[in-house]
Amino acid sequence: MKITSIKSHILQYDLPKELGYSQQYYAKRSTHLVEITTDEGLTGWGECFGPGNVAIANKTIVEQVIQPMILGKDPLDREAIWHHVYNLLRDHGQKGMPLQALSGVDIALWDLFGKIANLPLSKLVGGHFRDKVPVYGYGMMLCREDTNSHVARFKDEAAAIKDAGFAATKMKVGLGVKDDIRLAEAVREAVGDDFPFMVDANHCYTTSDALHVGYALDELNAYWFEEPIAPEDYEGYRELRNKLKTNIAGGEAEFTRWGWRHLLEGRCVDIAQPEVCAVGGISEYLKVLALAHAHFTPVVNHVWGSAVAIATNLHLLAAMPPMPGGLFPREPMLEFDTTHNLFRDELLLEPLNIQAQVATNSGYVSIPDGPGLGVEPDRDFIKKFRIN
Ligand code: CA
Repeated sequence: MKITSIKSHILQYDLPKELGYSQQYYAKRSTHLVEITTDEGLTGWGECFGPGNVAIANKTIVEQVIQPMILGKDPLDREAIWHHVYNLLRDHGQKGMPLQALSGVDIALWDLFGKIANLPLSKLVGGHFRDKVPVYGYGMMLCREDTNSHVARFKDEAAAIKDAGFAATKMKVGLGVKDDIRLAEAVREAVGDDFPFMVDANHCYTTSDALHVGYALDELNAYWFEEPIAPEDYEGYRELRNKLKTNIAGGEAEFTRWGWRHLLEGRCVDIAQPEVCAVGGISEYLKVLALAHAHFTPVVNHVWGSAVAIATNLHLLAAMPPMPGGLFPREPMLEFDTTHNLFRDELLLEPLNIQAQVATNSGYVSIPDGPGLGVEPDRDFIKKFRIN
């Protein structure tokens, strides 16, 4: 079998309401799908992390840079293809957009592998440790409104996410140390003492500000403090991890086994959050997972994007060994963005129906069981939202 084409589809629409996190506000939802076709009629789907204009740049890398390197190759030679592309791109970027682009291509190759083998991805990567995974709902985004409005809205949203059946919730911060502590207190009050909540700073703090917020989170018994500081600041991560009781989580902006090696050897995080659509795809994710577990660091995948990314992650979470293991191990959770996203809810011919599953299965969702990713994007839907 030979690869005959690699195409990127960038989908976009205007959000009904602007959303924000500590770095920016955004008004459009976008997603970047990769489609690989073969001379035997099989098609594989993947997804690249990166919204908006980043997706447009990544599309150029996928179609103009990576495609010519691998046209005509056997799609089953995933590992050889990965190393061929990485080696040729090494001089031009060992992190960031080249790896995001390669990730979507690699995921599509794994989807093809599953379709050729007629097996679901979860079985190809080691099989099921669990047949369902708990889901945490994140929301509580920043908006152009004052702190009091944020506090009131975060309380409502936190309570709504808990009522919807999610196993835990995650909030954004980024208004400033004092206001962020108020927001976290409001969320703890809204969900009660026994419900896990997490705080995502998207690296907006200095180490000293992060410590200030972190001590408050220790008092509130938050489950984790995500990306408190810049991903390059390994020393800062180590300091926070040493001084705070709350788990330090991070790694969504880290790439490949070589980047993760520094984060893990430096003992920078309590919880590792590799993003499969950015880290280098499934092939590289599996190496990062092994490396994380070699350092006794639990992994909770970072998940963002369309139903293709969610399906990919469901398979990987099903096949993840418990760390450290036990009669009642802490299970890896699926990250789920509860904000408006048609590409999550309506892209597939047979939707994953995450929200409905969460509501009726006590916060758990099942693993797709079709070959490969086990999902089929709706081509009419893609046509309708394609911008390129
Ligand atoms: Ca995050």
